[in-house]
Amino acid sequence: MNSIDYALFRSEFRTALGEDGYRRFVAAGTARRLRYWQEVELKKFFALHPERQLDMTQLADALRVCELHDGLLQSEVVEVIDGCIDYSQTYLDARRGTFPHAAADPVSTEGRMDMPTLVSVWYCAACRAARSAWMNEPP
Ligand SMILES: [Zn+2]
Repeated sequence: MNSIDYALFRSEFRTALGEDGYRRFVAAGTARRLRYWQEVELKKFFALHPERQLDMTQLADALRVCELHDGLLQSEVVEVIDGCIDYSQTYLDARRGTFPHAAADPVSTEGRMDMPTLVSVWYCAACRAARSAWMNEPP
């Protein structure tokens, strides 16, 4: 599978699920386990589009996009800081609604002792720009 195949998959998957369903599916993620409703939607899609059949690794690659901005997520290695971070509800709400894939907050151990010193994160450039704009807004 190449990036054109993945783009075609996303386009047909979006058409099949509708805009809201597609964004909900992408936002739910595929990295861990699919939720039951995701399995149902995927099975329906593959039944209608057998030529677009993907395994789970390919599905994760194809849908590694921002559900808000549609851009492909970029990989970056960041340092893990020792400690715990509490964010305000205002920030968490803004992050969820406006820049869900900024991945610009520090990665912290949250008390775990077995964390590596470096981890890989996926981010959306448009989310980072939206986060910067939000951070620079006067309160
Ligand atoms: Zn984004």
